[in-house]
Amino acid sequence: MKILVVTELRQGKWNNTSFETLAAAQQIAKGTSSAVSALVIGKGVSAFADELASKNVAEVLSIEHDLLEAYTPDGYCIALKQVIESAKPDLVLFPHTYQVRDFAPKLAATLGKGMIGDCVGYRHESGRLVFVRQMFQGKTAADVTFTGAAPWFASFQSGAFRADLLAAHPSGKAPVNSVTVSLSAQQIRTKPLDFFKEAKSAVDLTQAPLIVAIGRGIKAPENIPQAEALAKALGGEIAASRPICDEGWLPMERQIGSSGQTVAPKLYLALGISGAIQHVVGMKGARARAPSSPSTRIRTPRSSKLPTTASSATSSKSCPPSPKNCKKQSEDSHKLHLGIYSLLL
Ligand SMILES: Cc1cc2nc3c(=O)[nH]c(=O)nc-3n(C[C@H](O)[C@H](O)[C@H](O)COP(=O)(O)OP(=O)(O)OC[C@H]3O[C@@H](n4cnc5c(N)ncnc54)[C@H](O)[C@@H]3O)c2cc1C
Repeated sequence: MKILVVTELRQGKWNNTSFETLAAAQQIAKGTSSAVSALVIGKGVSAFADELASKNVAEVLSIEHDLLEAYTPDGYCIALKQVIESAKPDLVLFPHTYQVRDFAPKLAATLGKGMIGDCVGYRHESGRLVFVRQMFQGKTAADVTFTGAAPWFASFQSGAFRADLLAAHPSGKAPVNSVTVSLSAQQIRTKPLDFFKEAKSAVDLTQAPLIVAIGRGIKAPENIPQAEALAKALGGEIAASRPICDEGWLPMERQIGSSGQTVAPKLYLALGISGAIQHVVGMKGARARAPSSPSTRIRTPRSSKLPTTASSATSSKSCPPSPKNCKKQSEDSHKLHLGIYSLLL
């Protein structure tokens, strides 16, 4: 079987999910005696093609064209269709990025094929590949197979495979083959505008080796310093699920998940987080995860309530100025520490 991995560059930088998908392709290839080709597309991509050639791939296909400098669904589909028709891969894999969601189903449909998108794994069973996709917010998983003839199209979710397990080329470098595509300006029906600019992150959680993430189970903002102290003591960073950032309890740049950052620390402590799929996609690359559970429930002051507005989030209503109540909060805060530390044991 021939596997083609379509990698992604965004504003002159790799989308790291490309390497995760390449790692997935290498694993599939190992179990199915297949050959993996990696493809890079754009303008001025020779250095990126060389970098791909250092990985354990049979060849790198490099598509360069002035009209591919900026991404357009028409440009990418027309160019990739030509490459797929000439290279004849059996399986075409993509990282499941926003860009891939935009053009890959169209590409597959142009070739009269379907696509299995957003896969989290695969199995090789009775001579055929079975792809695994999550359904109903990750509550269940579906096994999906291709019924028609190749080429088959699939994309892998960010964090589904580990980029650090990507194997290097055994003899140093794979051949890089330039592919010429025929593309004219008239074929491109959209005009790319400026890139959507995400809020600039002051903190790069992607580099954190340990993350203490808090969710709605933390109950009140006055409990956050304890989690922050834990993160600091362990040499890690504090992060959060979306409701915490929506409430303004922590800045947006600390949000993990589909609309936040994607992280892959060595250890991810999730405190009071239910594990909704939109959160899990942002942290499932973590080597070890420790969720809070009924047996390690966080003890929070009884009077604490999750505010429904950001303004009430900043008020500290959970500890009225009575010495008894404050003592109670202090005891319960201690229990919160114990609850958190027990996750480590
Ligand atoms: C388009 C879209 C994008 C989204 N993007 C994101 C995203 O990027 N990131 C994200 O996080 N979410 C995102 N969400 C929201 C997501 O669906 C969930 O609603 C959210 O992740 C839930 O956050 P949570 O786990 O903190 O809260 P909850 O789901 O309310 O979970 C709280 C958990 O705390 C536990 N708990 C309660 N008390 C205690 C205690 N004392 N000790 C221990 N545990 C306790 C509860 O049992 C529960 O499991 C998105 C949703 C949509 C629709």
